[in-house]
Amino acid sequence: RKGSVVITGASSGLGLATAKALAETGKWHIIMACRDYLKAARAAKSAGIAKENYTIMHLDLASLDSVRQFVDNFRRSEMPLDVLVCNAAVYLPTAKEPTYTAEGFELSVGTNHLGHFLLARLLLEDLQKSDYPSKRMIIVGSITGNTNTLAGNVPPKANLGDLRGLQGGLSGLNSSAMIDGGDFDGAKAYKDSKVCNMLTMQEFHRRYHEETGITFSSLYPGCIATTGLFREHIPLFRTLFPPFQKYITKGYVSEEEAGKRLAQVVSDPSLTKSGVYWSWNKTSASFENQLSQEASDAEKARRVWDISEKLVGLA
Ligand code: NDP
Repeated sequence: RKGSVVITGASSGLGLATAKALAETGKWHIIMACRDYLKAARAAKSAGIAKENYTIMHLDLASLDSVRQFVDNFRRSEMPLDVLVCNAAVYLPTAKEPTYTAEGFELSVGTNHLGHFLLARLLLEDLQKSDYPSKRMIIVGSITGNTNTLAGNVPPKANLGDLRGLQGGLSGLNSSAMIDGGDFDGAKAYKDSKVCNMLTMQEFHRRYHEETGITFSSLYPGCIATTGLFREHIPLFRTLFPPFQKYITKGYVSEEEAGKRLAQVVSDPSLTKSGVYWSWNKTSASFENQLSQEASDAEKARRVWDISEKLVGLA
């Protein structure tokens, strides 16, 4: 049978390019988990993904009710779950004030980390039931959360501090909207959320890999300077960023190439090692990359996991 893969945020950018790359192999059925049904339908059509290769299901990661509803709907569909790709994200670099999810968590960490944390925890059970030979859970990371790289050192740097803001629920009321308890900064909130994504992947690996055989991985697909992720940025930035990445940092990667990279992490028989943060070199060959000190801090990963469990209502 075909593999069955759920991809969050498959309505644009990396998620859509990955869906397209997998559909073209003829070996995958893609469940596009998207907040905007019509946008997803149009995107699938314009990408030329054949009807029999995808299903769109509603998922708004900025609402934990919606996450639970998605899981119910998915189970009712009786499709198997062989691979889960947590890809969706918001990036709000010019926001002056925090905005919030339905439950009142700062929007970047609430969507990118907490929404996916609940989704991944609930769907672990479904992955375990699958009889597919290589079951995987992938959480898209980013270099911007890695302070051991050049790009990760562009201020404001990711820093989860002692997690006091996360502990306080990121509400901006009794606690800060930022994980480290500092003043709100949209670009930093995004980077912090990506560090949480990478910590979560490793914690899943430590807790569940041996017992379940599931491969847990993260990746940095390269800088895809043309995606909607930068839609909130100032116009000058949006004009200059793609050529800057192409000619100066040389980290630029097309959406198509990035989609092929993530598709490899989904299905390539050579990328089955669990607990790995994948990156690609200049010749587009994959390698196991090093995470920053904070993004590989096992004690922090455990604490982020425990606090997140409470925030999403699992503990
Ligand atoms: P896009 O903005 O193009 O895609 C983001 C996707 O997430 C969209 O489909 C969007 O839906 C979806 N999304 C946003 N909020 C929600 C929500 N509340 N519920 C459900 N879906 C939501 O950006 P990219 O393709 O660039 O980003 C994809 C991933 O790649 C992210 O995890 C990002 O951190 C990562 N990444 C990107 C890099 C880059 O250079 N672009 C570099 C490294 C990592 P909608 O279409 O409705 O807006």
